[in-house]
Amino acid sequence: MLKSYSMPNLGVYIQVPFCQTKCTYCNFHTGVVSADRFAPYVHSIRREITTARELFRAAGVHFPSGFDWQSLRRPTPSHDAVDTVYIGGGTPSLLDPALLTSLLHTIRDSFPCSWEEVTLEADPETIEPQKALHWVSAGINRISFGSQSFVDSELKAAGRLHRSADVYKAVPILRNGGIRNISFDLIAGLPKQTPDSWRHSLAETIALSPEHVSIYMMEIDEGSHLGLEVLQHGTRYSARELPSEEAVADFYELAQSELKAAGYEQYEISNWAKPGFASKHNLKYWRREPYLGFGAGAHSFSGKQRWANLHDAAAYVSAIAAGKPAIESVEPVTTEQAFEEEFFLGLRQLAGIDLSRIERQYGIDLNEKVGRLASNGMIERDGNVLRLAPAKLSVSNEVLVELLR
Ligand code: SF4
Repeated sequence: MLKSYSMPNLGVYIQVPFCQTKCTYCNFHTGVVSADRFAPYVHSIRREITTARELFRAAGVHFPSGFDWQSLRRPTPSHDAVDTVYIGGGTPSLLDPALLTSLLHTIRDSFPCSWEEVTLEADPETIEPQKALHWVSAGINRISFGSQSFVDSELKAAGRLHRSADVYKAVPILRNGGIRNISFDLIAGLPKQTPDSWRHSLAETIALSPEHVSIYMMEIDEGSHLGLEVLQHGTRYSARELPSEEAVADFYELAQSELKAAGYEQYEISNWAKPGFASKHNLKYWRREPYLGFGAGAHSFSGKQRWANLHDAAAYVSAIAAGKPAIESVEPVTTEQAFEEEFFLGLRQLAGIDLSRIERQYGIDLNEKVGRLASNGMIERDGNVLRLAPAKLSVSNEVLVELLR
């Protein structure tokens, strides 16, 4: 019976890797495809979900002993199994709402569900009143909104399709449709961004009063058009108009103080929420709780293994159509990796991690190392709780490397 199953409830992630255009800074595996491909893709995800048990077994995925798949597959309301769903991308709000509804029905029919949080990622220009009503009736109760900036010249330079006016228009549509939980994404470090324009984007975000805000720092790598241009010293994509690293660090600190003053609590390196609105689904990633990912490029974690699906959407659809797993890699999580993840993932949360639990679980004494880093002001220790020092959040990776050395 699921009640004796000791792992926490599951999160389900659905990947929709389609967009209307490719943003210059985007390093995700997403593509611009004809809308004709949306329905077959969703059909494949539904099939992947309904045959997941067989596909996992064929790919060598084993759930830990104690995991009762039979109970999980039986749609019994008394068993809580899936409590969060996150439909991300890509731009899943491009899909016909009927396709999203069918996807959510399939999840509900395949797992016992007690949904607390069902998130849809949406781009502002794709929001329409009828869609919002459909989403709410399908069970979606949270919209994560790719606002990115409130300055049109920055949005244009980044290759975004929407403009700030689309955000102002979309928020009341979502509210009128019944969405009570909206998250905004902002990017610190966009080309053409200045201290004034960043302050403006923060102020407009706060004025629209979303329940949740994510701030991402611009990443420069060869995976995006802009990153590649910067690395090759080119000028396209406004590559010469990026703010400096120091300026971006200042943007982050300004966001911390402005959001705090507006009543948002920072609970993770990139995430702030009004009380009670921290993302339940995303917390599972940082707490190393299990989740199943479906769709091209989706990742999953059982506690003992991590596995990933094929990134290419066409290859994914073909594999599922042939009744084969679309899983391209399955990795056991070794004790050493699990130990590192406890820090790399756990310390992203401002609440910190339980040091004594980790010492017990992994049979290691960290007192000396923790004491040294605490005396350098890199981390803080409060009894058994270990957390990154607030001033070190924007350089967390350097601190973590030091801690695990
Ligand atoms: S909308 Fe998001 S996923 Fe799509 S290209 Fe832009 S940044 Fe990438």
